[in-house]
Amino acid sequence: MRRVYMDANATTPLLPEVMEAMRPYWMERFGNASSIHLHGQQARASVDRARETLAEFFNCHAAEVVFNSGGTEGDNTAICGLLRPGDHFVTTSIEHSAILEAARRLADKGIETTFVAPRPSGLIDPEEIRRAIRPQTRLISVMLANNETGVLQPIEEIGEITRTGGAFFHIDAVQGAGKINLDVRRFGCHLATISAHKMHGPNGVGAMFVRRGTPIEPLLVGGSHERRRRAGTENVPGIVGFAKAADLAMQSLEDGTIPRLAALRDRLEAGILRIPGTGVNGAQAQRMGAPGPDFRTWESTNPVPRVANTTNIWFDHLEGEALVIALDLKGVAVSGGSACHSGATEPSHVLMAMGLDKTRARASLRFSLLRTTTEADVDYVLQVVPEAVERLRQLSPVVAGTLG
Ligand code: PLP
Repeated sequence: MRRVYMDANATTPLLPEVMEAMRPYWMERFGNASSIHLHGQQARASVDRARETLAEFFNCHAAEVVFNSGGTEGDNTAICGLLRPGDHFVTTSIEHSAILEAARRLADKGIETTFVAPRPSGLIDPEEIRRAIRPQTRLISVMLANNETGVLQPIEEIGEITRTGGAFFHIDAVQGAGKINLDVRRFGCHLATISAHKMHGPNGVGAMFVRRGTPIEPLLVGGSHERRRRAGTENVPGIVGFAKAADLAMQSLEDGTIPRLAALRDRLEAGILRIPGTGVNGAQAQRMGAPGPDFRTWESTNPVPRVANTTNIWFDHLEGEALVIALDLKGVAVSGGSACHSGATEPSHVLMAMGLDKTRARASLRFSLLRTTTEADVDYVLQVVPEAVERLRQLSPVVAGTLG
């Protein structure tokens, strides 16, 4: 049976070049980067080179790159490393649970959080961020791209607002990295978090941009690694692999890969939307009727920006989970919500925050393409999805009465 993986936002496979770059570091070049002998010096030089690559990726100085274990650690570090009792935190209700749960934990320590809701389109209105800021606001954290819908947030506008408000600004760039150009200077942020396994690098390694002078406390203490910003022996093979993945991602932003991926995603989306009773979550802004401030006018006349690889589609009259399983049996891997919550039966908090009702949120699927996804992969998915949807709907008593 043909197998098509369309769950890139959950994780991605290593590209062969990444595997090759990492290979020597498991056995021959196994040194601890803190050791002063030759093995240690080799490991240190490799980590330093990787740091230069990540600095280019973020558009920052090498000294502003901190390696860690991935997106969850980066998100937790931004929040727990900056906020103190009495501080106020502003974030959005569509963030990853690594942000939301960290914020909930800090509530017990006297740190209050305002969760800004998205517009029905999935976009965060920068004005809502401005309105949420108080004199005690110390940190604002907004994701670059949403993991479920792929919607890209107006980060530069939000960065501008945080500059005037005097708070620190963190971006969870885990789902934007490798899909759009990261430029922390342009974004105007103090902190940014990325994760290797979302961009064809290895699992369990990530990096943070920490702008020089940002007074962040480390989450992990012990050794003086990473300029005392993250203790623990460096994961040298992981870091080397991450740098290779970042290098390849930078190339793919220049070589036509992204428009190719967007065209494939659009074809997939258009094909699925031919099925009656379907629609896209987060693609078109809902027209809001009443004239509003500029952002809303813009939002109602422009397509909502999304990363090229993602589409999130609702299917009326079926359970999303049943469709995920039916597609899996046909060799197609997709996700019925955030993969990080798999096993949970609650409907997606992102789709609910956008105003979908529980039934429609539960009946939504995320298709997220790999950089290596082909035309033939899309053809296969377009062959099996309509069949699976029709079969499941025939089993549903509701459908018999509505769609005939
Ligand atoms: N932030 C976002 C937006 C994510 O999508 C994820 C993972 O899905 C994370 C953070 C957590 O990253 P990691 O899996 O590297 O811990």
